[in-house]
Amino acid sequence: MDENFGLYQLGEEHDALREAVRALAEKEIAPHAADVDEQERYPTEALEALNKAGFNAPHVPEAYGGQGADPIATNIVIEEIARVCASSSLIPTVNKLGTMNVVLGGSEELKKQVLTDIAAGAMASYALSEREAGSDTSAMRTKAVRDGDHWVINGTKCWITNAGVSAWYTVMAVTDPSAAKPADGVSAFVVHKDDPGFSVGPKERKLGVKGSPTHEIYFENCTIPGDRIIGEPGQGLRLAFRTLDHTRHAIGAQALGIAQGALDASVAYVKERKQFGKAVAEFQGVQFMIADMAMKIEAARHLVYAAASKVNRGTPDASFASSAAKTFASDTAMAVTTDAVQLFGGAGYTRDFPVERMMRDAKITQIYEGTNQIQRIVMARHLLKG
Ligand SMILES: Cc1cc2nc3c(=O)[nH]c(=O)nc-3n(C[C@H](O)[C@H](O)[C@H](O)COP(=O)(O)OP(=O)(O)OC[C@H]3O[C@@H](n4cnc5c(N)ncnc54)[C@H](O)[C@@H]3O)c2cc1C
Repeated sequence: MDENFGLYQLGEEHDALREAVRALAEKEIAPHAADVDEQERYPTEALEALNKAGFNAPHVPEAYGGQGADPIATNIVIEEIARVCASSSLIPTVNKLGTMNVVLGGSEELKKQVLTDIAAGAMASYALSEREAGSDTSAMRTKAVRDGDHWVINGTKCWITNAGVSAWYTVMAVTDPSAAKPADGVSAFVVHKDDPGFSVGPKERKLGVKGSPTHEIYFENCTIPGDRIIGEPGQGLRLAFRTLDHTRHAIGAQALGIAQGALDASVAYVKERKQFGKAVAEFQGVQFMIADMAMKIEAARHLVYAAASKVNRGTPDASFASSAAKTFASDTAMAVTTDAVQLFGGAGYTRDFPVERMMRDAKITQIYEGTNQIQRIVMARHLLKG
C-alpha cells in the first residue's frame, strides 16, 4: 500500500488557496458581515479586498488578465467567502454567472472587451428571469431586433443579482418569435450599463443575502452594437443552460460555505454554553446533532467538487451532477443552519449571533439558478432518457 495514496484528495495548491481565502475572509469580510446584513448595504469592504487579492472573478482565464482558476479552486473561493458572508460570496459567484456565456460562446473580441474588464474589477450580472418566465424560461418576452449594425432590445428582466453595481449584463432575448421550438428563438447578448435605453429599477426587499442588491432591469429601445451578440442567433437559451451547468455547482459551493460557517459557530457555542452544570456539548442529544450536521456537509462537499470536475471535463452526466450538487448542498445548508439556530437556543433567534443571518441566507440557495424542484426535473430527465 502506498502511504501517500493521493488519488482522492485535493492538491496542495487547492489547500493553500483555501488557507489564503479563509485568512482574507476572516480579516477583511467577516467583521462587516452583520452590518452589511443589518443595513442592507453593498459589501464594499469585501469588494475592495477581493479585487485586491484577485478573488473577485477567479475563473477569468489568464489570457484576459484573470487568475485562470479551475472550477474547484473557484468553488473554494466562493465557499470560504460564504462561510463568513453569503452576500459577499455573490461577488465571485455572479461574476462567473454573468460572464460564462461569453467564456463559452463569445467571439474573441467580446471576450477581450468583457472578461478583461471583469478581471480588472468591473462586475457582471446574468439576466434570464422575467416576472412571467421564472422556472419556465422559454416563456420570456424580452425581444431583440436587428437594426442595421445594431440590436435593439425591449423588455424587462427581474430578480437580477448585483444589478446597479454591475457594468456588464448577459441578457437572453427572443430574436425569432416564430421559431418552431421556443428555445431556438432566443439569443444571448452583452449589454453595458451605459448603453442607451438601459436602466435599473427599484431594489427588492429580501429575506436574506441583503448585501447583494436584486433589481429589475429595463430595456427601452436599448441599442447595442451588432457584435455584442454571444455566438449565433438562436443559440441563446442553450448557452444560458450550459452556463447554468457551470454555475449551479458554484451555488452548491456557496451553500456549503454557509453550512460550514453555521457548524463552526455551533461547535464553538456548545462548548462554551453551560446548562445543568456542564457544557451543553457534553449532552449526547447535542453531539448527535453536531455529528449529523458535519456528515451532511462532508457529503455535500464531495458532490460539489466532483460536479465541478465533471462539468469541466464535459462528462455525459455533467448536468445531473451539477443539479445534484446544488440541490444536496442547498438542502444541507437549510437543514444545518436551522439546526445551528436550535443549538444556540434563544440566542440563536436573535441578531446578536450570526446563525440567524446564515439561516435566512441559506434559503435562497434552494431557489435561485432554478429551484430545487427544477433541479430534480433536470436529474430525472438524465436518468430517464434514452
Ligand atoms: C434573490 C434572488 C436572486 C436572483 N438572481 C437572479 C439573477 O441574477 N438572474 C436571473 O435571471 N434570475 C435570478 N433569480 C430568479 C430565480 O432564478 C427564480 O426566482 C427561480 O428560477 C424561480 O422562478 P420564479 O421565482 O418565477 O418561481 P416560479 O417558477 O413561479 O415557481 C413557483 C413554485 O413552483 C415550482 N415549480 C415551477 N415549475 C415547476 C415544475 N415544472 N415542477 C415542479 N415545480 C415547479 C417552483 O419550484 C416553485 O416552488 C433570482 C431570484 C432571487 C429571489
